[in-house]
Formats: sequence, structure tokens, C-alpha cells
Amino acid sequence: MAYIKKATRYGNTGKAHSQKPNADFIKNSVTPFDFYRHELPAAPLKKPNWNNGGLCPFHADRTPGSFLVNLTTGAFKCYSCGMAGGDIVAFVMALYGLQFIEALAKLADDWGLL
Ligand SMILES: [Zn+2]
Repeated sequence: MAYIKKATRYGNTGKAHSQKPNADFIKNSVTPFDFYRHELPAAPLKKPNWNNGGLCPFHADRTPGSFLVNLTTGAFKCYSCGMAGGDIVAFVMALYGLQFIEALAKLADDWGLL
């Protein structure tokens, strides 16, 4: 289960901490499939493109069906509350209230990158 492995490869200098995570590198390293399986463990995610994402994490959702995630592009959309974005970075920004760079850093840390 690679996704729970924390970043441990910083080396001795610590210089990696000050590097800005690269969006392309992160998006190439963390597939939307792995990402959403981790973020939405209860959702029946199986096929390419749009899947039922289960309960929407952006509003007090009690009836699955309106929240969709795209396992090919990472896009997400809720037809109930209107929250939507184009990739997993946008999802992390929206869910955790982060700026773009902060979301990249969280992804890099969560997925053991850099
Ligand atoms: Zn919603």
C-alpha cells in the first residue's frame, strides 16, 4: 500500500524540503485511480472516466449519486452542491482549503514523493 508510505527520502541535507513540488511530476506519480481509492474508500470506483464517487465530501451528503469523480483525468463534480474541479490537485485544494503550492506539498508528503 504505497499510498500510506510517508516521505522518508529527504536525505541528510534537508534541501528537498525547500524544493517546490512539481505539479506534472505529482500528477504523473499519483494516478486519479489510486488517489480517489484512498480519499473515497467507500466509493465503488472501478471504471475509466466518470464514476459514482459515493457521498460528496464537500457538503452534508446523505444520498450517494450526485458526486462523480473521473478516474482518467482526476476531475470531480457534485451535481448537488456544485463543487467541481479538473484534477486531483484541485480536489486537495478544495477539500483542505489549500493554495495550489500547499496542495502540491500535501500530495508530495502524503504519497511519499520528492
Ligand atoms: Zn456536494
